Amino acid sequence: MKKTLNDVQVSDKKVLVRVDFNVPIKDGLITDDNRIKAAVPTIKHLVENGAKVILSSHLSRIKEEADKAKKSLAPVAKRLEKVLGQPVKFVPETRGAVLEKAINEMKPKEIILFENTRFEDVKDGEVVKFESKNNPELGKYWAGLGDIFVNDAFGTAHRAHASNVGIASNIAESCVGFLVQKELEMLAKGVDNPEHPFIAIIGGAKVSDKIGVIDNLLTKADKIIIGGGMAYTFFKAQGHKIGKSLCEEDKVELAKEYLQKANGKIILPVDSANATEFKDVTPVYSGVDLDDDVMGLDIGPKSIELFKETLKGAKTVAWNGPMGVFEFENFKKGTVGVCEAIANLGNAFTLIGGGDSAAAAIQLGFADKFTHISTGGGASLEFMEGKVLPGVEAIQNK
Ligand code: AMP
Repeated sequence: MKKTLNDVQVSDKKVLVRVDFNVPIKDGLITDDNRIKAAVPTIKHLVENGAKVILSSHLSRIKEEADKAKKSLAPVAKRLEKVLGQPVKFVPETRGAVLEKAINEMKPKEIILFENTRFEDVKDGEVVKFESKNNPELGKYWAGLGDIFVNDAFGTAHRAHASNVGIASNIAESCVGFLVQKELEMLAKGVDNPEHPFIAIIGGAKVSDKIGVIDNLLTKADKIIIGGGMAYTFFKAQGHKIGKSLCEEDKVELAKEYLQKANGKIILPVDSANATEFKDVTPVYSGVDLDDDVMGLDIGPKSIELFKETLKGAKTVAWNGPMGVFEFENFKKGTVGVCEAIANLGNAFTLIGGGDSAAAAIQLGFADKFTHISTGGGASLEFMEGKVLPGVEAIQNK
């Protein structure tokens, strides 16, 4: 068990907090401040307990010097001030005398946010990736600025960067923040120690990113429903014709292997909603053998019924990846159907593993029907794969 905020004494201490303020910014304006709000419980706890709070975050990617002008965290500091109702000092540097002086002059309960950690990825026009390749000097330097490190950025927990792993490995004390703590508890309940029957649902388009999840889930889930673009690689593995549907050829053998290993645990669609182009047109339905000129863009009505039936009585459901191109009005039925089936489960523990499935549930109006929607697409996916998250691993145990 990792240390949490309740395990550390923060009064009068310089507490470095890695948050996830990677918010969408358009023309200098923040278009969605949910990530800022999500960090508030940890920040408030630290302020109320008399800490000197030093916040850091990445914002997007920095690939060249010119990116820096648009990717400053300055507007985030302003928004955080409003959300907290307390001053937040913004330091427009990632290291050096100005930052060090600002920190040394801090009084308890004060808050500093310093500049985008990814500014360290480009120096004098050269791509150096000090932050995102976990440069050891940088992690050590940042760790030297504080007494305690709190990791509350779940979205980057699957990456070993200087601002999470680098700091954690070089500081006397570390713990996870409230947001990361909740994510870990929810993911453990939804994937590692689920109440049975446990049904996993895997869909979406990035087959190579997700196929590893199936391997881990085969050991844990009672049934694995596969839909979305993912399904066609499995159809191909079964020898079906898939027309122009999404397929990752180099994963067909792996799909065959999983189907064999699954011993009936994998539930595939039995029909498909198709179009001749990737367009929002009226679907043409077929079974699982598709004509050469069509592509499957959603599961069909019989599959929706099959999946609803499969989900009946589930006590735990973990879902990652939409059942079809839900962004198209004509191809959202499969994803809506699965959302409805999950919403009707009553007292089951239901989890969405972030990314596009979270976007789908929110867009289709089902967000409040789930027990937990993870804030980290990549991190929750790697957790579902059974991988260790380096950003969490580097934190001290209780
Ligand atoms: P992922 O990031 O892997 O969860 O993929 C999400 C994306 O998969 C969404 O944007 C969907 O539109 C897309 N998707 C789902 N089903 C299909 C399909 N049958 N063909 C192409 N794209 C799909």
